[in-house]
Amino acid sequence: MYIPGHEMIINDTLAKLSKNQRDIIDIGKLKTGLFYPDLPCGKYNIISKNNVFMTSKTTCSFINLLKLYDPNNNEFYEIFQSHKGILAYLHSMSPSPSYTARDVRTAILNQCLTFFLLALYDDNLFMTSPKKKISFFWLGMLLHIIMDSYSPAHTIRKVTYRIDIPPRSIYTPSRLMRKRVRDIILDTIKTDIGNTVKTIEEFTVYLRDIFKDDIKSLEYISNHLDQIYNSYLMFMFDMQTTTKMQSIIGKYKPKEYQTYKPKNITNFMYYNNQFNFYHQKKDFLYNIDDLTYKMMIDDCIFIFNLLFEASKSNVTSDPKYLKTLLTYLTDNTFRMTKKDLDSQTGPIDVD
Ligand SMILES: [Zn+2]
Repeated sequence: MYIPGHEMIINDTLAKLSKNQRDIIDIGKLKTGLFYPDLPCGKYNIISKNNVFMTSKTTCSFINLLKLYDPNNNEFYEIFQSHKGILAYLHSMSPSPSYTARDVRTAILNQCLTFFLLALYDDNLFMTSPKKKISFFWLGMLLHIIMDSYSPAHTIRKVTYRIDIPPRSIYTPSRLMRKRVRDIILDTIKTDIGNTVKTIEEFTVYLRDIFKDDIKSLEYISNHLDQIYNSYLMFMFDMQTTTKMQSIIGKYKPKEYQTYKPKNITNFMYYNNQFNFYHQKKDFLYNIDDLTYKMMIDDCIFIFNLLFEASKSNVTSDPKYLKTLLTYLTDNTFRMTKKDLDSQTGPIDVD
């Protein structure tokens, strides 16, 4: 889900916790964990053949998401695997069309339980809050899966989303902007390639210089001009939508809570079946109605409460809390019928 979405949902969740609970939460680590699956930029040390040691888990610049749009991408990037590859279930999506919905759900549930245990027992300094021995980083990773499961870009839920799609002008860079970028690029080629700039590396440095006010940390990974151009457009797309969406999103924050029945998931999306823009559009919070938004917040609050409760006891000797979590997730967040569990996760037709 789009990052300002995660931020808003977690802020709304925190506001519903008690002050005592809020006081022991390391919000910085919680948010790093929450954003990490979208922008994984961890550093690893390889100690020996089978021993990989993680030295940090930091998030990349948002601009790194652009790498997902690179057709020549090195598929081993963690950020790529996280979205389209083997780690797609960290976003409640299917890693491969060969997975059934049951396979995806099993991977998700196992991962949720693992993150819950890590939140209780990992004492790595990068993850653990000094105020209380809870690793809020891992809780953030867990809540990311929960939140993404409510995004119509990630799962299909029955009786779900409002179909409002914002006017094209909101997600398309203006003609003026496109023209400006194109002019700069054409001009650059004319005056510099084969002239002062000899290599594509020099060209990207030059281009970075031109855009440095807009793009702070863009690393060019392609030698195709088209791609640099598209990256720039995507960047502007992000900038424009972030700003414009804030006001739209505000309208859909729930005002009154009603009683409700959870909405079943009927299938998990497989990213490669989706057009990029389709995914992006569906990923915004305006696609989520009030009731669904409330379900999502309730799930987050439930997990917070359970974690606080479990942190007071020894969970490994008492599996009660893990069972409670598993039951909650299968009955609520990831509730599915037997028939839907057996369906393949791809290809799914998109409109
Ligand atoms: Zn995600």
